[in-house]
Parts: sequence; structure tokens; C-alpha cells
Amino acid sequence: MYLQHQNIAIIGAGVSGLALAGALKLQGVSSRVYEASDQLWSLGGGLIIPPNSVRVLEQLGLDTVLKVRGVELHDMRIYDVSGRLLYARSQGEVAQRHGHPLLGLAREDLHRVLAEHLPEGTVQTGHRLTGLDNEFHEAVAHFQNGQTVHADLLVAADGRDSQVRTLLYPETRLVPTGDVAYRGVTAQRPGGELDQAFSEFWGPGRRFTCFRMSDGLTSWHAPVRQGAGTPLLDKAGLLHAMRDFPPAVLGLIEATDADQITALPLQDISPLPEWWNRRTVLIGDAAHATSPNLGQGAAQALEDAAALAQHLAAAPDRYSALEGYQQQREGTANAATATARAFGELGRARGVARFARNLALSLNPELARRRIEAFYGDPVG
Ligand SMILES: Cc1cc2nc3c(=O)[nH]c(=O)nc-3n(C[C@H](O)[C@H](O)[C@H](O)COP(=O)(O)OP(=O)(O)OC[C@H]3O[C@@H](n4cnc5c(N)ncnc54)[C@H](O)[C@@H]3O)c2cc1C
Repeated sequence: MYLQHQNIAIIGAGVSGLALAGALKLQGVSSRVYEASDQLWSLGGGLIIPPNSVRVLEQLGLDTVLKVRGVELHDMRIYDVSGRLLYARSQGEVAQRHGHPLLGLAREDLHRVLAEHLPEGTVQTGHRLTGLDNEFHEAVAHFQNGQTVHADLLVAADGRDSQVRTLLYPETRLVPTGDVAYRGVTAQRPGGELDQAFSEFWGPGRRFTCFRMSDGLTSWHAPVRQGAGTPLLDKAGLLHAMRDFPPAVLGLIEATDADQITALPLQDISPLPEWWNRRTVLIGDAAHATSPNLGQGAAQALEDAAALAQHLAAAPDRYSALEGYQQQREGTANAATATARAFGELGRARGVARFARNLALSLNPELARRRIEAFYGDPVG
């Protein structure tokens, strides 16, 4: 087995890095995870957990967190800005087809459970990678704190703004989607038919999504189209920008403390021609950064981690393992990024395009269902 006696360094203790360390542990292989932040860190807020995420967590033996902390959502609902229902999908039917419904979970819960199951000392915080020598015989990581680590294999799990990707492929650029995602968490429940749903509201140039998650909290995010260089909105500005959305939407923003609302300009990446080179391999957002319009970013990161560990365990050598991993994952992960971008554009369509979208959704909801659920995995049974 190729993995035996290999020294594996993972850069980044986010979803993919922690999951990979856990998946390697199941193969009896230890690894080290080097995280830039001084403590284990998460972006906060909630994550939608689709059925394909659940399956990876089951493989890792970590799905109890979903039972204990997750909130099962009963429907997915998409509304026009006027409040007109455009699309509804029972999650009971999704569970019948794909084994699980959508769940809402605090991002922190996912990070905690992924980290807690690793042997002590696996994660080294305060290690920001700033340099990389990617040689034929080894990879050498240089950290801002002056330390250097030699590895047989270096895994870049350092997220959307991956420093490893920049060093390896300096010509690659993130592509701004033109949206800023405002995000918040509130103790207020969405109420009514939104209370047990994953809900999206599609308005011209703006969208709003919300769902309930751990501890009775509601997570929401609102991507707003903003020209480059436009100042970020404060809470009052966001409320003004969303003023034509239904009262339930405005109520959730209103109920969120102003200093708890964060803003993140969204970017994704065009498909990379290769995900590995010599002794370095990319996973998660480092390989296929996505806009959060489909609820698949963390899911695809988890799938990468499981696939890479399996290929490393099963393949006779590094070349076959890394090539097998890329071949297994790149089609699906790149398609998820492209679909997320298209979904974002559809959601914020204006004018005639918006009218055509609403008509198409009401005439052919099956088309939308197939696109949304394309990444949930093969039907069960
Ligand atoms: C607003 C928003 C909502 C989202 N909602 C969902 C959702 O509902 N469902 C879903 O599946 N996905 C969602 N996503 C996407 C998801 O968060 C990401 O796709 C996922 O976190 C990617 O995992 P990752 O491990 O690749 O990167 P990350 O989780 O971002 O982890 C990267 C880690 O690397 C560390 N790091 C960075 N640079 C360095 C360095 N130089 N040296 C060492 N460490 C470094 C970072 O500190 C971080 O800990 C959302 C994203 C956003 C922005």
C-alpha cells in the first residue's frame, strides 16, 4: 500500500483538511494538519448538509453530530421576491430517493466533530504556509512562523484563497461573481411555512436564503449584486437594499445584531487543468472554489477528502493515487461550481429573464429538481 510510511502534511484545518485527516486515520495512517489561524476557526453561521455530505460523514463514523445537532428540514422552497412560490420540494421525497433530507447545521459543529476525532497533536495551529518547494522527491512547506516541514505528500486544503494554489499555478485567478454575501445568525425563527424549510427568495440583483440550524438559531445569507469598489452595506443599507422582499425576510435581518452581520465578496474559479503536481495535491475549495449558491461547497470538499484517502490507500504508487483521485472527482466538483454560478445568475435575474425563469420553473419544476439534486448521489434502493 502506497500510504505506508508516507509523511503526509495537510495545509488548512477547514472542512476538507480535517475530513482528510479523519479519513486517513481510518486507513491507519497518521497525518499532520497545519492551520494558519491561532485556533481552530470556522466562518460561523450555518451549513446546508445535503445527502452526499451525510454519506461521507457516515463513512467517517461522524454522522451522530447530525442526529444530535442537525435540524431536519421538511421542504426546500423557492419564492419570487413578491412572495410567490416558484418551487417546492418535499425533503421526505428527497430522503426516499437519496437516503437523507437536507439538514441545517452550525458550521462550528461540523468543524468540532471533524477535529475532535483526530489524535491529539494532529492539528498544528499558528502555521501559515508562505512558501513551497515542490520537488520530485519531497515537498517542503515554509511557514510564516519560521518553521519548515518536509513531506512525502503535501495536501493543499487551504480553501478558496489557497496560497498553495497561487504558488503552484500563479496564472490561476479567482473570478468575482459580482455579489457580496451578507450573512447573519439570529435567535428569531423564520416562522410559518418557512420554519421547517430551506427557503430561497429570488429578487432582481439580490437573493435571500434561510434555514434553521443547531441551538434553535436561524442562519441566513443574502447575496447582493454590487459593482466592484462599491462600499459594503451596513445593516440599515442591507435592509434598504432588500426593502421589496417579504416581511419574513426583513424580520430576520432586523432581528440580527448589526455587529453579527458579515459581508463576503463572492468568487469562484474556472476548472483547473490539473489538481496535482509532483508531491502536492489540491482538495476542496483550493481545487474548485465555488460560490455558495447550491449548498455544495463543503459537500464537495468532504467528497474530495474521502476519495483522496481511498485512492491513497488502494493505489500502488503516488502517481496512480493522485491521478485516480483527480479523475474521480474533477468532473463532479467542477460541475457543482458551474451549476452554483448558473444558479446564482438565475436567482438574481432581472426583467425579461426573470419573467422567463419564473415561467420555466412553474411549467417544468422537474428541470430545476434535477439540477438541484444532481449532486446528491445515486438514488438509493
Ligand atoms: C456564505 C457561504 C455559505 C456557504 N454555505 C454552504 C452550505 O450551506 N453548504 C455547503 O456545503 N457549503 C457551503 N459553503 C461553502 C463551504 O463553506 C466551502 O466550500 C468549504 O468550507 C470548503 O472547504 P475547504 O476545506 O476547501 O476550505 P475552508 O473550509 O475554507 O478551510 C480552509 C482552511 O485553510 C486555512 N488556511 C488558509 N490559508 C492558509 C495558509 N496559507 N496556511 C495554512 N492554513 C491556511 C484557513 O484558515 C481554513 O481553516 C458556503 C460558503 C460561504 C462563503
